[in-house]
Order: sequence, then structure tokens, then C-alpha cells
Amino acid sequence: MAEEFGAAAQLAARSIAAASGPTTGPRPAALRARLDAVDLRAPLGSTAAALDEATELYLRDAVYFHHPRYAAHLNCPIVLPAIAAEALVTTVNTSMDTWDQSAGATLIEQRLIDWAASLAGLGPDADGVFTSGGTASNLQAMLLARNTATARLVGSLPERLTGLRIYASADSHFSISTSASLLGLGAEAVVSVPVDELHRMDAHALALALEADRAAGFCAMAIVATAGTTDFGAIDPLHDIGALAAQYGAWFHVDAAYGGGLLASPRHRDMLTGIEAAHSVTVDFHKSFFQPIGSSAILVRDRAALALVSHHAEYLNPAAEAGRAPNQVDKSLATTRRFDALKLWVTLRTLGADALGSMFDTVMDLATAAGEIVTAHPELELAAEIQLSTVVFRYVPQVPETGGEPLSNKIRSALYDSGEAMVAATTINQVRYLKLTLLNPQTTINDVTAILEAIVSHGRRLSGERTPMEVSA
Ligand SMILES: *Cc1c(COP(=O)(O)O)cnc(C)c1O
Repeated sequence: MAEEFGAAAQLAARSIAAASGPTTGPRPAALRARLDAVDLRAPLGSTAAALDEATELYLRDAVYFHHPRYAAHLNCPIVLPAIAAEALVTTVNTSMDTWDQSAGATLIEQRLIDWAASLAGLGPDADGVFTSGGTASNLQAMLLARNTATARLVGSLPERLTGLRIYASADSHFSISTSASLLGLGAEAVVSVPVDELHRMDAHALALALEADRAAGFCAMAIVATAGTTDFGAIDPLHDIGALAAQYGAWFHVDAAYGGGLLASPRHRDMLTGIEAAHSVTVDFHKSFFQPIGSSAILVRDRAALALVSHHAEYLNPAAEAGRAPNQVDKSLATTRRFDALKLWVTLRTLGADALGSMFDTVMDLATAAGEIVTAHPELELAAEIQLSTVVFRYVPQVPETGGEPLSNKIRSALYDSGEAMVAATTINQVRYLKLTLLNPQTTINDVTAILEAIVSHGRRLSGERTPMEVSA
């Protein structure tokens, strides 16, 4: 076993060290051809040979999030203590469903839940559970909200579901509307609340929507505030939204999948003021706590709420024995579940929370500096002020675009093809923008400058413009 881990660790370290860019820019067809050549009926006979093959099929052309020129999606490089813990998680293969499959692992997870809930200020009755990601955490939060609302209504279940409404900003994560579909409400139950120029929910618009819907007979099931939107890192006005949720008897959920990193921030924790009033909070440790995928949690202010999803199975957690042992399955939508909490635990016991929070502060500073460069550049246009660690901007051609593939997409593809950098893209008011998501505290302002320079140079070339030098020549 130690041999397998040693070999894999060395291979991973070699691959990461060998990566000269975040990607080699592979095309699906090229990789598929290699994969198609594999005969699954003819095993190679040794782990070493299978790893060699996996190197060709996967590692050589993998996308490397740790690379300082990777600035695309919400993926972080991971801290070393978490990698060590990951080896234990996988090897011992503890399952978190019941005490008799997990023992100390359950207590460690519980302790981290208590820790995170206290950072969020959720009070003495708080609880929660680790999940696979923010999508799962949001789904569970919406399930708790739905069951809380339906318990108060009368009529058949379909009747009670029909009138429920979820309020979330136009920039909220799509998992909220997926959850609404899964929960039998239909995606149309989600009211898209307009945002202000910083892409934060407009609390006044929310108040108007709540009032109009109440008059029309709808029931405000939940209000979702996003603390760190995926594109702009915008933090909705938590205090105002929490007050409206209380006024309308709605479940107040804070989706802090991204902005949750602020909970540990030495300098910016106050940006989350108001989160303490939430009924539930989503935090993705695999986004802003530098943890390996998956590592997320749903936190709730009232542990009794989690019982809304409890199911007792005679072979696992019999009702007759409820309360005798701490069985995490009682509050989870998953049954068999990884001990992901150990990664965060070993990280905290090695580095401490301040170190994690400081890394998040560092990437926020980097984004601010990047925003200043973009603002100062005559050919670049910033889409909105920097709030967390994303920079949304575009290269503005001298001659306006006339349709066809947007220039931003062409620039992004050129970067991918060359492997020099990876950036993301998004659309605002029908205009395609580029996005840097900066989550690597080892990325320097020189890296960011190089990415921006590459964007400008591809932009000039792809928009058919001559460079200033050519113009003057
Ligand atoms: C990423 C994200 C999610 C989804 O989390 P996953 O871990 O990818 O499932 C939810 N909400 C927000 C705001 C996010 O940025």
C-alpha cells in the first residue's frame, strides 16, 4: 500500500512540476483517439503499467489548477497538509454514515461543523454536515426550507407546493433553480430578483416582489442571499435580506460557497456581517479554503431542522435506537460518504485558520491590483468593481464587433490552444466578457500582467487591428 501511494505521489509531483502551463490545449478528438485505443478486456497486469497509461491518457494533458497562469474557474490550488490527509481518507476508507463505521471521524467532522458555524455566528443550537459540494449543500438547504414551509400550510402536498416561491438574485447560482425543480416546485418557483450595478441583490426590488407575491397569495418559502456570486464575487446585502426574510416568515439561506473564505479572513470578515441571521449557510471548503474536491458543508442555525431529512432504516440507524450514537446519516442526504472533513482538520491543525484566511486576503489583493491594471489599460474595459477575487473585463476592439463568434471567445480559445494561460468567460447584457478567477495565493502580479498582455496581443491580432507600432510605421 505504501508503495502504491509513494509511486502515485511521485507521479503526481512529477506531472505537476513538468506542467509548463495550465493546459496543453488538447482537443477532445485527440484525447478520445488515445482512449479508444485502450482495450478494457486486456488488463495491463501491474499498477505501474496502468499508471503509465494513465499518464498518457490523463496527466500529460490535465488542467493544472496550481499553475499561476490558471485563472479560469472557481478552482483553488490545494494545501499540502490536505493532500496528506487525503491519503488517509482514501486508504482507511471510513464511511461517515454511522458511528459504527466512523468512530472518531464523526467527532472530527462534528467539531469542524461547530467551528464553521461559530465563525458564521449561527448560535448555540447550530449544526450541519459535510457534503460533496455547494450544489448538494444548496439542495439540502432548499429541502429544509421546503419542508419547513409545507409543514405550516394546509391542503394536499401538490396544493401546498404550488404556491411556494424562492427569491434569489439574477446572479445567483443555477443550483438554486435545479433544486427547485428537484423539489417539485418547478424552476419557475424561483423569483429572479434584479441586481444593482455591483451585481448585488437589490433589496428594495426584493421587498416589492415579496409584497406583490404575498398579495397574490404566494408563500415566501426561502430567500437566498449569495455571499460571493460566481462571476463577480458580489455579496448580497445580507442584513437587509435577513430582515425581509424574518418579516415574511421565509427561510433565510446564505450561499457562501465562494465567499465563505471570508469567514476565516483576518482583514475582511466584516463583509459577511448579517450572515449570523441565516437559517442555513453553504460553504465550499474546496473553493476558498484551499481544500481538495470535494469538501463542502451545509450549516444550520437550528439543529432540529436537520431532522426534516432524517430517515431511519432498520439495518443502519433504527428509530428505536435513535440518539444512542451520533449517526451523521441522520442529517445527510448521502448514505455512504467520504471523510472529507479530515482534509480540513489536518490543514487547520497544521496551518491554523488565520493562514487560510490570509491566503484568501492575498488573492483578494491580487484581484484588486488586477482590476487597477485593467482600468488603466486603454484597450481593456472592466465590467464591475472588484469585490472578491474575480476580474470580469473585455478587450475592446477599435472597430466594434459585427456579430459572429464574440472576440472574447476567440481570445479565450487562443489562450487555451497555446497553453499559456486559462481564463473563463461570461455574458453580461448580451456582451461576452473574459473573467479571471484568482484563487492562487502564489500567483503574482507579474503572472496577471502577463495574462493581460497576452489577451491584449491576441485581441489586437484577432480583431484584425494593426498594433500601434504598425500604425506609426
Ligand atoms: C460554485 C458555486 C456553487 C456550487 O458549488 P459546487 O461545489 O460546484 O457544487 C454554488 N453557489 C455558488 C455561489 C458557487 O460559486
